[in-house]
Amino acid sequence: MFGAHYKKQILFIDANQNIGAKIKISGGGKCNLTNKYVSAKNYLGNEAFIQKSLDSFGSSDTLKFFEKHGVFPTIKENGQYFCGSSKEVLSAFASANSCHKFLFGSKVLDVEFEKDDFIIHTDKKSIISKKLVIASGGVSFPQLNASDIGYKTAKRFAHEVKTPNPALVGLTLQKEQFWMKELSGVSMRVKIKYEDFIYSGDMLFSHFGISGPAVLNASLRWERGRISIDFLPFLDFGLHSPLWNDKKQLTSVIEAPKRFIKAFLHSCGILDKPMKSYSNLEKEKIIQLKNYLMPIAGTFGFSRAEITKGGVKTDEINPKTFESRIQRGLYFTGEVLDVSGELGGYNLQWAFSSGANAAKNFEV
Ligand SMILES: Cc1cc2nc3c(=O)[nH]c(=O)nc-3n(C[C@H](O)[C@H](O)[C@H](O)COP(=O)(O)OP(=O)(O)OC[C@H]3O[C@@H](n4cnc5c(N)ncnc54)[C@H](O)[C@@H]3O)c2cc1C
Repeated sequence: MFGAHYKKQILFIDANQNIGAKIKISGGGKCNLTNKYVSAKNYLGNEAFIQKSLDSFGSSDTLKFFEKHGVFPTIKENGQYFCGSSKEVLSAFASANSCHKFLFGSKVLDVEFEKDDFIIHTDKKSIISKKLVIASGGVSFPQLNASDIGYKTAKRFAHEVKTPNPALVGLTLQKEQFWMKELSGVSMRVKIKYEDFIYSGDMLFSHFGISGPAVLNASLRWERGRISIDFLPFLDFGLHSPLWNDKKQLTSVIEAPKRFIKAFLHSCGILDKPMKSYSNLEKEKIIQLKNYLMPIAGTFGFSRAEITKGGVKTDEINPKTFESRIQRGLYFTGEVLDVSGELGGYNLQWAFSSGANAAKNFEV
């Protein structure tokens, strides 16, 4: 979405035919709008910059806005606010912006600046404007008309762009972990650690690799190398655990999907047998389940990523107004910026916080 100050009015330009195509599908159609516990710690990006924006428009402001427009989100686990249907959210935005003009189905191809004006070239027509807000999102989900126009325009005005990468996305396997492919469809509770970040939640095996909430969150932080997976997060299990004295088979003692344990044992060349019959060497291999160091090949890619991490660097953006410090009248908001949130309503909240702060200062 582009917001242009046009003939003393605001004109919204979007390649899609309707407002908020991504909102429509977000949270599985129930739109996880925001999170009670939102803070800069939930994001990748410049913490001071992010916190400043959240402090002047946070989750309570988001809720107030929606309540004013007849949408009453309910709080679910981990402070996540969901609404009944994302259609309610789209109606709220349509009614809040009914005084503005819209140009849908128009793809912005280029932006120039001449004398005092921005010239926005779309595939339909060119628009001249005194101010321009770029809220064009990232490049993930190209099926919803995502494009790199925000990054291209930023560079044209000498802004730096951190290399965009897929995030909140599944991770692919190295050859040594191909044994996991046969687990497609299995889901289990895990704890994933990458550097100082720990994410607990479900993990889902698929033909492509691993996904599910814990993996998607880890993908936000992952850059290269290995992640550590605790496949038994509820079990205190080490070399000296009393469980090794049990006469029952390992698959009957360890609380995890049997299909997973069997495949894991097979990958280590170990049989499923009574706990007390394992050698020390076998035990050492089995307790890897608590700290499985897994090299990652890559991600499922932009087409399946919920967001794009990286983007327009925030150093040259005013955190109060979201105006460029390089080019007056040019604003960047939302996912196009180098600010990326975890799962749980943080990304929409960022779009709302940055958008609302820009709007407060966007005089027509
Ligand atoms: C499947 C899915 C589920 C998600 N669920 C959630 C959730 O529940 N909660 C949450 O917080 N976040 C969720 N997200 C992330 C969230 O939707 C985004 O972070 C958020 O929408 C970003 O807002 P934005 O306005 O910056 O960009 P976008 O919502 O991506 O909007 C950008 C707009 O710019 C338009 N555009 C791009 N290029 C051009 C061009 N060249 N010309 C004209 N128009 C252009 C696009 O058509 C698009 O409409 C989800 C994302 C996906 C993909």
